[in-house]
Amino acid sequence: MSRRRFAAATIALLLASAPAAAQVIALTGGHVADLEGKAPIRDAVVIVEGERIRAIGPAATTPVPEGATLVPLAGKWLIPGLMNMHVHLALNLPGASRIHDETPDSMALRTLDNAQKSLMAGITTIRLTGSDAGVDFTVKRAIDSGIFDGPRIHTAGASIVPTGGHGKLEVDGPAAFSKAVRSQVKAGATWIKIGISGGISDTHGDIAASPFTDDELRTAIEVAHRNGVKVTGHTGSPDASMTAIDAGIDCFEHGYFLTPPVLEKMRDKGVWFVPTIVVTQPGARAFYQKIGSPPWYLARVESVGRQHIQSLRDAIRIGVPIALGTDQYPWEPNDGTNATVREAEIYVDAGMSHAQALRTATIEPARMLGVDGEVGVLKPGYFADIVAVDRDPSRDITALRTIGFVMKGGKIIRKDD
Ligand SMILES: [Zn+2]
Repeated sequence: MSRRRFAAATIALLLASAPAAAQVIALTGGHVADLEGKAPIRDAVVIVEGERIRAIGPAATTPVPEGATLVPLAGKWLIPGLMNMHVHLALNLPGASRIHDETPDSMALRTLDNAQKSLMAGITTIRLTGSDAGVDFTVKRAIDSGIFDGPRIHTAGASIVPTGGHGKLEVDGPAAFSKAVRSQVKAGATWIKIGISGGISDTHGDIAASPFTDDELRTAIEVAHRNGVKVTGHTGSPDASMTAIDAGIDCFEHGYFLTPPVLEKMRDKGVWFVPTIVVTQPGARAFYQKIGSPPWYLARVESVGRQHIQSLRDAIRIGVPIALGTDQYPWEPNDGTNATVREAEIYVDAGMSHAQALRTATIEPARMLGVDGEVGVLKPGYFADIVAVDRDPSRDITALRTIGFVMKGGKIIRKDD
């Protein structure tokens, strides 16, 4: 090959490997809801370039670039993709359908399947609060690398507990806790989950038990924070919660029995609350029956449920920062809709405004995760994670039942006719 022909071939190769110009999509004819419940942008145009939003505004003042692919969404309401902050994608609860001795490869497939069903339901970001065998890291990497569609995943890896506690990674003593936290961070955890009290599904002990020693709790939280990772605690215990707040915890899950003094302290210290209220309310009964839950479990759910909803009402009244999470699969059928939507509806029943409930599924989780410059609102520069519904959900949260369009990172995942 002559030198000139070699150079030409090299240039051709370089051109072939240069990234294609980012695709431009224009979503037209929809209205963009305001997350504060203020005036929406009516007849809006959203210009999406590659993965991100390039422009957003009224059609009259937002030109559509030549060559853009037009996606008409006339009369639909556009909101940020929903975010669910308490998810287990390979859930395995007590019941007739419980899977015994599941292998990690089968668990990984279930995890991926449930991740994809969640995305189809309009949940574009999830936080995993306890997974097994490292399959969460595998599935997250596969989605991030573009091999599979799926939501953005933030994960806590395995839930860390003292022996006998509510979680899978059992360790004892401060040194073992620091090693367990470090091992999860090394594997890719961007949160740490600890079980600071018992759980509804435990077959021993008390939900309100407080099994950590103060040293164990302080060490786990300190080591996580030294690695730049936040810590959340599964809690059904006011005592354990108080100790954990003093030790610097960032977030609580469930909060079945959170008392006003604990909630006031959470508000003052900015500790987040992820209620997962759906799991103890009547809408979940059909799910427990479907999986063949034993009577003792159903009775426990019902008795815990009465205090759980009171904790949520108090948290809303006191002004604790709340991010939506379900514990059920985000897409799991619940009361005629799915768990994510039902969770937001119950927040309104418990005292939130509709706009406030919508924020718990969008901008509030983004703030909690520290990605509020990337997702959670529809603005230029943000990822184009967008869903469309039939009515304005900032005025009527039940509009989330009508999700018919889902875009994640500029890619159309779902568009119903
Ligand atoms: Zn959970």
